[in-house]
Amino acid sequence: MSGQPPLYDVILGVAHTQADPGCSAGSIVEHAWSESATQACAWALAAGFWKVNILREEDPSSNEALRRKVKQANRLGSVIAVEIHLNAAVYRDDDNREQTNPHPRGPLVLAWGTSELGMSAARAVLRSLTTRPGGDGFNQGVARLPDPKYGRKGWVEDTACPAIIVEAGFVTNADDLAWLESQGSAEWVGAAVARALCLWLGETDRARFADGKPSAL
Ligand SMILES: [Zn+2]
Repeated sequence: MSGQPPLYDVILGVAHTQADPGCSAGSIVEHAWSESATQACAWALAAGFWKVNILREEDPSSNEALRRKVKQANRLGSVIAVEIHLNAAVYRDDDNREQTNPHPRGPLVLAWGTSELGMSAARAVLRSLTTRPGGDGFNQGVARLPDPKYGRKGWVEDTACPAIIVEAGFVTNADDLAWLESQGSAEWVGAAVARALCLWLGETDRARFADGKPSAL
């Protein structure tokens, strides 16, 4: 090892598109908010000597565009792919009635596939987001995809590296929405995700080198 800090390659995907911007409530539009959070995350990671690739999906109806995005992601040899979203879920039962907690609150982080690395990254990001001031520790935990409850999650499903979907908060919850509408919420989330990724990769690398020889991610 040289004295240089390690350079890791990460993929950040902006959620949704201008034409199909995801969920919205109050002054919040998911796509625009995700763009701000993604930029903040990219700046923080770049300051830590990470190489950041931001992928945007211009046309969600085009399978060709999605395939290109996945191919690009896999060619980059990244250590992780992350997409930051907002959630608009109102949980309903089988008869389409709202459940007793119809307006869930706080972050939810989803990891794609069977990789334990993805799940450990999801837990690290959830821990970081749960420290949000005023969030009262509310969170919806982590979950492994695919899960019919969450539907298809697009290009991250086919990446070669661990991939996580960050649902930073619920626009359907009044407390979450008030915070999301406050100045700097997207920047806070982007920085919190970056911090978590640095911690996660530090732990991952220690584990990889624990027996004296590196193993593949
Ligand atoms: Zn979304």
